[in-house]
Amino acid sequence: CADSAMYHAKESGRNNYQFFTTELNVRAQHRYALETNLRRALIEQEFLVYYQPKISLQTSRIVGAEALIRWQMPGIGLIPPDEFIPISEEIGLILPIGRWVLQQVCRQTSYWREHFTPDLVVSVNISPKQFQDPGLCRFIEQTLAESNLPPCALQLEITEGLLMGEIELLLPVFESLRNLGITISLDDFGTGFSSLSYLQRFPIDNLKIDRSFIHKIPENQDSVVLTHAIIAMANALGMSITAEGVENAEQMLFLTDSGCQEMQGFYFSKPLPATGFEKLLANNRKS
Ligand code: C2E
Ligand code: MG
Ligand code: MG
Ligand code: MG
Repeated sequence: CADSAMYHAKESGRNNYQFFTTELNVRAQHRYALETNLRRALIEQEFLVYYQPKISLQTSRIVGAEALIRWQMPGIGLIPPDEFIPISEEIGLILPIGRWVLQQVCRQTSYWREHFTPDLVVSVNISPKQFQDPGLCRFIEQTLAESNLPPCALQLEITEGLLMGEIELLLPVFESLRNLGITISLDDFGTGFSSLSYLQRFPIDNLKIDRSFIHKIPENQDSVVLTHAIIAMANALGMSITAEGVENAEQMLFLTDSGCQEMQGFYFSKPLPATGFEKLLANNRKS
């Protein structure tokens, strides 16, 4: 990228060359500042975990949540994960950040199961780098034990891109996670380039239909047909289905009629801080 910028800059004269090198410097500085801030954020505990409820379409009750990280940067405010997870992956900081999330979630879920919803299941997003960390399974096992959380209460969300890696390296990880008793969900399903054969090769428990399909329901006939087909396929293969990005009643009714088990989306609730989610759990118990 830098080379091609230089190339074009040299072609079009000396001033442009300076312009481009300055811009590259600014970008490099910005990136360096972000890196420094991220390392500090980890030490100073500036990360937060938000929870977005997952609702059973059969009972209309909260059965789970997805844990979503946020960065509360002093003087700046709440920064969404898309703005710092990719760079954390690049600089290797995703491993300690990911472990921190797992610890928070296990402790919190254990408390919520004891006091509010005994069968609550919480899912955690795991990036490919984390999945390839040889210490992952051991760490999860320890963390579950420390928080007194049964493995069935924890689900990992992975994305299709991961499955394109070497199967000989990936399968043992799946197997040891499954032996531990935690479940695995395939996130953003339908957006990646993975082939359906992956569903046969890897032990996947749950499919999460990407919100780009749900978004166009019921107006777009293609989305309707594809969503029907994904649900039918998952059910036939013995996988449960979660729809993400459900924003209105039409979508919810469509999903219920189509045999989808679970939904998640702004229609029911945005991701909430732990205190806000706990209030929902308290009502969940009463109703
Ligand atoms: P994701 O795992 O696909 O998470 C779902 C995203 O959709 C969340 O964005 C959520 O706020 C948003 N969402 C939920 N319902 C709706 C809806 O009805 N409409 C719309 N338009 N959006 C909805 P968020 O929290 O900004 O997270 C973005 C991504 O960042 C996540 O996508 C996930 O890939 C990544 N991420 C979040 N937390 C973690 C983490 O702890 N570790 C790692 N490795 N990645 C994370
Ligand atoms: Mg997810
Ligand atoms: Mg998703
Ligand atoms: Mg996503």
